[in-house]
Amino acid sequence: MSTTPYLSDRINNLSESATLKMTKLGRELAAKGVNVISLSVGEPDFNTPDNVKNAAKQALDDNFTRYSPVPGYPELRQAIVNKLKNENGLDYDPSQIVVSTGAKQSLSNVILTLINPGDEVIIPTPYWVSYSEMVVLAEGKSVFINTDIDSDFKITPAQLEAAITPKTKLFMFSSPCNPTGSVYSKAELEALAKVFEKYPNIFILSDEIYEHINFIDKHESIAQFPSIKDRVIVVNGFSKAYAMTGWRLGYIAASKEIAAANDKLQGQTTSGTCSIAQRAGIAAYNDGLESVKVMKEAFLRRRELVYNLLNEIPGVKTNLPEGAFYFFPQISSFFGKKDLNGNVIKGSADLALYLLNEGHIATVGGDSFGNDNYIRLSYAASDESLIEALRRMKEALAKLV
Ligand code: PMP
Ligand code: GLU
Repeated sequence: MSTTPYLSDRINNLSESATLKMTKLGRELAAKGVNVISLSVGEPDFNTPDNVKNAAKQALDDNFTRYSPVPGYPELRQAIVNKLKNENGLDYDPSQIVVSTGAKQSLSNVILTLINPGDEVIIPTPYWVSYSEMVVLAEGKSVFINTDIDSDFKITPAQLEAAITPKTKLFMFSSPCNPTGSVYSKAELEALAKVFEKYPNIFILSDEIYEHINFIDKHESIAQFPSIKDRVIVVNGFSKAYAMTGWRLGYIAASKEIAAANDKLQGQTTSGTCSIAQRAGIAAYNDGLESVKVMKEAFLRRRELVYNLLNEIPGVKTNLPEGAFYFFPQISSFFGKKDLNGNVIKGSADLALYLLNEGHIATVGGDSFGNDNYIRLSYAASDESLIEALRRMKEALAKLV
């Protein structure tokens, strides 16, 4: 990591987001005229539904252009409360909801409001790249629980309990998981909740942003268990479910105290998020799940497509993800091999760069997700792009000797 002496330790100690970095490199290569297929950034390739866009246009005409309340418009917080009740069976009051500039800010707010220097945050690996770096910003310490493809990338209650120390303050995870697509069942969540019952000082940050892209069952939230609900902070947002990545709209549902703390933090940093995006969010939640269903069907079809194509590539091992829109195949069999220029592939970041430069497909190395033996492919791309990307991947990998 390069450091600049006059910058704060906080920023010198922080790594660049690997998902955004690989996306940037892909864009730079594309700007030079290269036909790059991007499977790096996790973003639906659909457009925001028309009813949502119309609500935003209306918001402008109605002059929703001024500062909003810091935790969000009351109508949006109520729409979120209704959604949590109707879709997830969870009871919240609007005072327990804080709307932020994307789920990314929600996660960062929660970590900054809970973590003191030296506090431990348990994170199962693989995890979404920004989790561990947000802990770095808060001067906490990440404690990783390693999982791999053979356990379908899920932790057991025994692993969780073994990772807990007197310094543990927070456990954070996503289900469906970015980057593995793994989904915890109700029984698996209940078993984890039983462990947390024994440790009343630990909070649980449950990132549920992929809840609707779940191919096995209905979404289950760890907040459903009353014995721990007060310590669970649910994070969710509009980016994935409603193809609204650019609108920057996410939220938490938490105890009143944690919600008030996030409100205070946000009031001193970013204030209420974009007024127009919030009005659009109300329309998204009040108008139902039709567009979400269409997207999910496309993702399910593409999952089968990519699964079959990946299985045809020698040296690549994959599982069948149960949710989200990523594959996280094992690619460590290529480590130690050389490309045509004699460069040795030493790890997943090298392999991702090789695939970009040789195969012109952007992926992300697993090292940034806490496991170097894998790479992440997003299949939020058209069927044609996926077929061509996997063809290029197979061809490029076969050139390594
Ligand atoms: N959590 C996970 C697991 C994600 O993959 C993402 C990616 N966008 C986010 C949170 C943040 O989403 P956003 O800030 O776009 O709401
Ligand atoms: N969450 C997406 C991803 O994992 C978006 C990029 C980002 O914010 O990291 O690719």
